[in-house]
Amino acid sequence: MEVGTVYLVGAGPGDPELITLKGAAALGRAEVVVYDALVQEGLLKMAPKDAVFLYMGKRCGRSCPSQEEINDTLVQQAREGKTVVRLKGGDPFVFGRGGEEVLALGRAGVPCEVIPGVTAGVAVPTSMGIPVTHRGISGSVAFVTGHPGSGLDDPVDWEALAKAVSTIVIYMGLTRLPEIAARLIAAGRPYDTPAAVVSQGTGADQRQVTAPLGELFNAASAAGIETPALIIIGKVVGLRKEFSTLAAAALPAEPTHTK
Ligand code: SAH
Repeated sequence: MEVGTVYLVGAGPGDPELITLKGAAALGRAEVVVYDALVQEGLLKMAPKDAVFLYMGKRCGRSCPSQEEINDTLVQQAREGKTVVRLKGGDPFVFGRGGEEVLALGRAGVPCEVIPGVTAGVAVPTSMGIPVTHRGISGSVAFVTGHPGSGLDDPVDWEALAKAVSTIVIYMGLTRLPEIAARLIAAGRPYDTPAAVVSQGTGADQRQVTAPLGELFNAASAAGIETPALIIIGKVVGLRKEFSTLAAAALPAEPTHTK
């Protein structure tokens, strides 16, 4: 039997309409869809009704599949001759372990095509009226993980980062925000730097709060914002208010307890 192809598709940040045309076309041809926790239901409707849907998210308590189990599933389905779409939130290669899946497929001799997606770190701020770069205000942006990693070393040098770039976008950082904010401030980033926390960005259930960096964690807790969430730090966050010409729908109202 001929081995099927695995399409590693970026689903975009949440709003199903933000998948790429190429990604949607691959989904439309899928016989098997392997999807993760960040993928919205609306996207699954783009696949044929008789496709097989396998949920392999990492946010499902103790029965979470390991990365190896996910890799094995992809290989096994392709070896059965199936056209497989591996759908991952945002872009598959941005903090998505997509690279590990590509390596595993390559080792197993399974053909694989990667279809980029719009990463949350760009789409979420943009959809809220926060430009990650803006002439005269931010000439650089860093996308970093707030997850401490499994090794001894923190994957991010926060002290160096505080000075190196204008805009800092942190994935998976909410739980560690008190420590991260304290380190950035101690390293010279002003306490009152405009900052935001957003959950379910671009989705129907989007929640966000803006506050000075030094008060961001308390503001997010008071607003009841939960993980997974994105953190945006930098003067550009302050531009959001000035972009009053954007459609009201594109600028969801702040919760009342916003500072
Ligand atoms: N590959 C994804 C990121 C996966 S890491 C991408 O390119 O977007 C998962 C983290 O991304 C979450 O913990 C959260 O920090 C962030 N994230 C992804 N989608 C998000 C969304 N719609 N709103 C807010 N944060 C999001």
